[in-house]
Amino acid sequence: MPRPILATIHTAALAHNLARARATAPDARVWAIVKANAYGHGIERAFDGLRSADGFALLDLAEAQRLRALDWRGPILLLEGCFDARDLELCSRLGLWHTVHCNAQIDMLAAHKTQVPHRVFLKMNSGMNRLGFKPERYRAAWTRLNALPQVEEVSLMTHFSDADGPQGVHAQLAVFDAVTHDLPGERSLSNSAASLRHNAALTGRSDWIRPGIAVYGSAPDTPEHSAAHWGLQPTMTLASKIIGVQHLAAGDTVGYGSTFTADKPMTLGVVACGYADGYPRHCPTGTPVLVKGVRTRLVGRVSMDMVTVDLSPVPAAGMGSDVTLWGRAAEGAVLPIDDVALAAGTVGYELMCALAQRVPVVVV
Ligand SMILES: *Cc1c(COP(=O)(O)O)cnc(C)c1O
Repeated sequence: MPRPILATIHTAALAHNLARARATAPDARVWAIVKANAYGHGIERAFDGLRSADGFALLDLAEAQRLRALDWRGPILLLEGCFDARDLELCSRLGLWHTVHCNAQIDMLAAHKTQVPHRVFLKMNSGMNRLGFKPERYRAAWTRLNALPQVEEVSLMTHFSDADGPQGVHAQLAVFDAVTHDLPGERSLSNSAASLRHNAALTGRSDWIRPGIAVYGSAPDTPEHSAAHWGLQPTMTLASKIIGVQHLAAGDTVGYGSTFTADKPMTLGVVACGYADGYPRHCPTGTPVLVKGVRTRLVGRVSMDMVTVDLSPVPAAGMGSDVTLWGRAAEGAVLPIDDVALAAGTVGYELMCALAQRVPVVVV
């Protein structure tokens, strides 16, 4: 029998969440963001659930090729654009749309020989200071791009740094509007947090929304709001089983470093899941976990291949009992990936992206 760990990708939940994202901007088209191998879900595995997207956005050219291999003929957008001149040949050949965020990318495009003019998304740095042209440089870049025979159409794009927090999108939106208000072209503004939290301010402003994390069933603004608050469903379940049971007396310790000491007699389950499976090593004692669908807690340190869990709330549990590390238990109970991420001091994004290669995956 294989080691009992298993990840499940939930196709219906992906479709549901994508529809939820779409409902925030019913007049806009939706890029399903599938970078980082569809946030760890696997592009091929997630594809069925995301078919109703208007396009797919990512940043690896190899991932774009995989989408074309799935026979996706619709739009694909490279969110970081081209990394060198040869990438433009692939864009021409596969009909990829690409972001232009710096002058070097315009130079490459100007030197590119193509029969098929390209659709580009010109990115403004409206305050995040990652990729994009500063507002005062943006119109010059637009003018230059627009004059190139290699360019068919220029769309306008920016990315919000604080859509998930108290600062919101208003300052960046004002900068973007001031520079672009009289430029033609479609606009693409909103990530998940902007779509969910600021849809009123953004209505009619974004022709293409760019939801990522919401599509994968995690709240962009946790712990302020939960995935359930936004009507999102888990798209990835990480499950395993209890492969050992230990009875501890008061004073006994657990695992490497003996970081947990039992204060009374207790029963522990040893679960076949560790950091080599993508479960964060930083999860401390108290991190939530489901055993037979009942919420209990991790105790002691996460090791490479195992974690130990407190079976006190689940006296019926024993060898072979089902354990849900995140996602949906067979009993129907949900352990939000965001709850585990919070305990580990990170975000759901990192957990799903880090699912390890050795974990078998099924799609339902
Ligand atoms: C990753 C990404 C998104 C999606 O962000 P989420 O927070 O996952 O919704 C949108 N736009 C750009 C440019 C991105 O890189």
